[in-house]
Amino acid sequence: MKADKGILVLYTGCSGVGKGTIMKQLLRREPTIRLSVSNTTRPPREGEIDGVHYNFVSREDFLALADDDGYIEHAEYCGNLYGTPKQQVEQLLAQGCSVFLEIEVQGGLQVMEQYPDVLSIFILPPSMEELERRLRGRGTEEEAVIRKRLAQAKTELAVADQYQYRVVNDDLNKAVDEVLTILHRHTQA
Ligand code: 5GP
Repeated sequence: MKADKGILVLYTGCSGVGKGTIMKQLLRREPTIRLSVSNTTRPPREGEIDGVHYNFVSREDFLALADDDGYIEHAEYCGNLYGTPKQQVEQLLAQGCSVFLEIEVQGGLQVMEQYPDVLSIFILPPSMEELERRLRGRGTEEEAVIRKRLAQAKTELAVADQYQYRVVNDDLNKAVDEVLTILHRHTQA
């Protein structure tokens, strides 16, 4: 979606695919990119900072904002609620930023419906085996959670075809270059 000068970018990939690592490089290399900070009811992981990685909120507060129509989209993922606060995204778009929504597929589909001209990019793993290896290597989740996330990943991959662009994260630098090329194609036209 182009609002004045800003562009809304739907950026999705299954858990463990490396989309957070790609995102860090994107933020370093392209100053117009801003990452929307989501609200979540998930407890913080070690090292995660409230207001930076997520706004960590209670279920009650999350649902109150949903009732107030305060989210662009929201969804339940592996037992926790996640949502994109509307106000923050609108402000960033008005400033002319490229606003990335790093969200899962249910929310992604809601965004596509509401904003048909959103730029949508799906990050794919080289294979399911590699995804499992990365998810385990991260060491941040328990076995039951890893299994849940792997099952979820299979469902999510089925939706990748509905995204405008698919980028395989085989080589980090190559994946970052590809996302930037796509973004520039849409912002520097
Ligand atoms: P994690 O718990 O690993 O941080 O995130 C789990 C999944 O939720 C990831 O796929 C992540 O991209 C997604 N997610 C993060 N924020 C949001 C959001 O605001 N809305 C939706 N729908 N998904 C989100």
